[in-house]
Amino acid sequence: MRDARILVDDLTREQKKADQDVEQVKTRRERDRSRVEQGLITNPKDLQRMNHELESLDRRISTLEDEELEVMEKLEEAQAERVRAEREEGEVVEKLAGLAESRDTKSREATAALDQQVDERASALGGLPEDLLALYERIREKQGVGAAELRARQCGGCNMKLNAADLGVIAKAPADDVVRCEECSRILVRTAESGL
Ligand SMILES: [Zn+2]
Repeated sequence: MRDARILVDDLTREQKKADQDVEQVKTRRERDRSRVEQGLITNPKDLQRMNHELESLDRRISTLEDEELEVMEKLEEAQAERVRAEREEGEVVEKLAGLAESRDTKSREATAALDQQVDERASALGGLPEDLLALYERIREKQGVGAAELRARQCGGCNMKLNAADLGVIAKAPADDVVRCEECSRILVRTAESGL
């Protein structure tokens, strides 16, 4: 990007210089021509020399004009390249801004989701007796999950089948009694599918 700008500046200077060179030689040619036209040169030898010089000036102008044209072409290319580079730079800036925005949005969403989970957990725990919560927390610290569903006579935590005697005890226990797996000590949650 910076290189493209420098190149355009350099070529702009070069083109100005080439233009000045052409104009300088043209001015000299005009001066010589008008001298000839005004009849200021009378000596035939001088006149011949002057005509030679005018021809040589024509060639010089043509060469300088070709050079200037070449510089102008390079300048046009460099300007196009600069426009391209500037557009690319703009796109990158825009993309970065977009990424930053979506990162901020995601972060806000994640924070909101976390807040909601914390709220939900707090309200879910709100109705439970404190000793049950303490028991749950104690088991959770050891086992990762403090409670498991008793499903088809099997503990959902350790997957052990409960024996008939234990099942008998659990089946007779009141619904608000806390029953636990003999194997992993998790709190067992009784449902219609428990097989009791
Ligand atoms: Zn278990």
